[in-house]
Amino acid sequence: MLITADQRQSLETLIELAARGRALRHEHDNPKDAGALAELVAKHKEVAARKTSAAEAVETLRAQVAELSETIEKQNRLIEKKTAELNAGTGLTSRDLVTLQDEIAGHGDRVAELEETELGVMEELETAEAALTEVEASLAEVTAAGRAMQASIKERKTELAAELREVEESAQTLKAELPDGLVRQFEHNVGQGGPGAAILTGPNCQACGQEISGMTWKGMLGNDVNETYECEECEAVLLRRG
Ligand SMILES: [Zn+2]
Repeated sequence: MLITADQRQSLETLIELAARGRALRHEHDNPKDAGALAELVAKHKEVAARKTSAAEAVETLRAQVAELSETIEKQNRLIEKKTAELNAGTGLTSRDLVTLQDEIAGHGDRVAELEETELGVMEELETAEAALTEVEASLAEVTAAGRAMQASIKERKTELAAELREVEESAQTLKAELPDGLVRQFEHNVGQGGPGAAILTGPNCQACGQEISGMTWKGMLGNDVNETYECEECEAVLLRRG
């Protein structure tokens, strides 16, 4: 199909616009930060799991401290009760008194022992609480970084979508300047995943790579430079380099 020099200019610009549109679409569908975001999501999952186990460790130690305190409390109550019995002394033989004294001393030893254990567990609890605070801070950091990255990806996508709309509008304007048949051919090739049209720099389709026979190529070289062709293989609009 023979087109005018102005139409040739429009077609060349359309080819450039279509390439720009494909690049924008590619970036829109494959955000540059998608990999980094996936890494942050994985990191978030890992830190969240660490937080869960750190919180569990704290809970376990708190329960141990509570249990020890209760046991100590029971022992202290026994000491009080037996000390009162001892002080009252009512109906007690001297042997009973000795037994009570021994028992009170035994409870005292038990309390000392339990308190030492409790102190150790409390130290462990302090360490576990510090670890939990630290992991909570990391989790907050990762969460914030993930949100910021999601927002920036979204923002970039919005920008790209706006640019794509501009490209599409300009392409529509250019298409209006071209013959209908040529536009249909262009759009058909785009629909097949091709570039629509391509400039021939040699005897190969620049859209699909298909070789153009020597005879056809020779014929093309003899034709008007503004003559357009259809690739036999991919049906893209072809135009010789001016
Ligand atoms: Zn082709």
